[in-house]
Amino acid sequence: MTCPTRTACPYCGVGCGVLATPDGKGGATVAGDPDHPANFGRLCSKGSALGETLALDDRLLFPQIAGRRASWDEAIALTAATFREAIDAHGPDSVAFYVSGQLLTEDYYVANKLMKGFIGSGNIDTNSRLCMASAVAGHRRAFGTDTVPTCYEDLEQADLVVLTGSNLAWCHPVLYQRIAAAKAARPGMKVVTIDPRRTATSDLADLHLGVAPGSDAALFNFLLHRIQSQGAIDAAYVLAHVDGLPAAMAEARRWPVERAAEVTGLAPRDLEAFAALWIRREKGVTLWSQGLNQSSSGADKANAIINCHLATGRIGRPGMGPFSITGQPNAMGGREVGGLANMLAAHLDLENPAHRAAVQGFWGSPAMAERPGLKAVDLFEACAEGRIKALWIMSTNPAVSMPEADRVRDAIRATPFVAVSEVVRGTDTGDLADVLLPAAAWGEKTGTVTNSERRITRQRAFLPAPGEALADWDQLARVGRAMGFEGFDFASPAEVFREHAALSAMAGRMGRDFDLSGLEGISDADYDALAPVQWPVTEAGSRARFFADGKFHTETGRARMLPVAPRAPESRLSAAFPLRLNTGRVRDHWHTMTRTAKTPRLSRHIAEPFAEIHPADADAAGISPADLVHVIAPEGRVTVRALVTDRTPRGAIFVPMHWTSQWASAGRVDAAVRANVDPVSGQPELKGAAARIERA
Ligand code: SF4
Repeated sequence: MTCPTRTACPYCGVGCGVLATPDGKGGATVAGDPDHPANFGRLCSKGSALGETLALDDRLLFPQIAGRRASWDEAIALTAATFREAIDAHGPDSVAFYVSGQLLTEDYYVANKLMKGFIGSGNIDTNSRLCMASAVAGHRRAFGTDTVPTCYEDLEQADLVVLTGSNLAWCHPVLYQRIAAAKAARPGMKVVTIDPRRTATSDLADLHLGVAPGSDAALFNFLLHRIQSQGAIDAAYVLAHVDGLPAAMAEARRWPVERAAEVTGLAPRDLEAFAALWIRREKGVTLWSQGLNQSSSGADKANAIINCHLATGRIGRPGMGPFSITGQPNAMGGREVGGLANMLAAHLDLENPAHRAAVQGFWGSPAMAERPGLKAVDLFEACAEGRIKALWIMSTNPAVSMPEADRVRDAIRATPFVAVSEVVRGTDTGDLADVLLPAAAWGEKTGTVTNSERRITRQRAFLPAPGEALADWDQLARVGRAMGFEGFDFASPAEVFREHAALSAMAGRMGRDFDLSGLEGISDADYDALAPVQWPVTEAGSRARFFADGKFHTETGRARMLPVAPRAPESRLSAAFPLRLNTGRVRDHWHTMTRTAKTPRLSRHIAEPFAEIHPADADAAGISPADLVHVIAPEGRVTVRALVTDRTPRGAIFVPMHWTSQWASAGRVDAAVRANVDPVSGQPELKGAAARIERA
């Protein structure tokens, strides 16, 4: 009998461990890994159906150039030559990579090294920009580094768990199950949910706060105000470790309960109940996710939460802290290697000359990026304006998932040269490629991912890659070599990881938080056997939490509280577009459904795209349950099924993000979302468009 392979689920940022057992016929059975500290054997519906998604019928098997089969040598040579010509003629900022939180850390590392250290541009951004860039910005402003201070156990040890902007029950189900189990075992534990919608997650809540869309910062400013007025500030902690309290308080005091009630739409008694719960329970975690991050003021919302934890010293100790949960399986790994346009590798700062020089020395780089590159929305805008001459998209589908998706599709089409690395044929983005590069998929590739609690887990291959599919790091290294660069002679993902660990060790010696010096020089055998471990990994061991010691990574070594002036969503409602359009996930589908649509079991939960609409709004528009409706915005429209429900508040609609033109010809909701971005984080406001709804 074949032994199971220990690997990690490829879907969400919980990062569950999986045991995969090949069946000898190209498939595999999948079970939860009882020894993995993220899930202890649990899997959600998506994870448990992984074995049903391994069919090869739609796989991209060979490189293609202009639609005809090509050899790898031809495809690599053409990609390298075209990038080289664009750089020579127009400079390094005329080319770009758009990558993905689905990539493994080793893929991400090579992509970032090639663009920032050898091409010499910051133009590498990732679909993680759409996921958690606001949390990254919030962390860096408050802590000096992008450090998640908490771990999953904190959610079980807390006396209060606040879930804000997070439908954890559907989007991070195993973490939700862990909280639900902890609450069942310890009924004194309280859960608060903060979300304009009543979701499956709200069903667990002792208190559900149905805030007005986008008003979270007002709520946390009110909380900070109450923390002070109730005498709950930890003066000793603040005095020793935190700057910025007076300025943050000056703004928070502008949010008495009456004003907070007006802006959030909550009853004063509910606001006071929330503040009382938060203040009286020292062990508390405030968890947030895309509901906060996908906002034109997402970074401020993150800092409004972090302010409350810093003011009370409730950070870095068991059962307490601010906790951002990533959407994708390896958004965190991308952050570690500098996969965002404004970051350098190993949590070093791209804008810091000493950091740039250190990385340049480490890599032996000929041309180091000297400034941040284009963030996702700006990157595709640059394509539309003709400033990007060569673009490489890896493992993501921006023609569907970017806001103003029709405009992004046109921008990709207008770019003179587009390479797309993909697992499957026929995606909206892949159909626009000049060069299509077949990529190895989950189960076929090997490397590491990092989950939301900083835990690094090995993804291991248990099936051969079909046709001529190659791992993404290998594709990148081949192009790097073909462009004439040294430093891309990697023979295996273990070699890439060793370099990544060595670079992080240098960053650790420079006082940065991301430090894998304990894994420096790791052998192939030890890399293969690497057990799940939270970073940092140093001689002193691993670390579950940060900041209980009050040591932060700012220039002063002190944390920063920020004054937060709440802002409404950028798109204003009007008579023509009176509804707030919210987008998000459903329980059983993932991203643009390239994997989850392969099994009918996962489509049984929700089979088609829909628009949740409140009964009063449906009445006003003459819409009956199950009608086909147009959701119309200035930027575009989608046609979906009406789901009339009071779980969505009056004045708002919710449409899932998954359906593409492969599955529903009029279901790409992001075509109807304006590309407003947070000026700090560059994250698009995917939850705050203005729209109207009409019967089709
Ligand atoms: Fe996979 Fe996330 Fe489900 Fe865990 S919770 S099995 S990581 S989708």
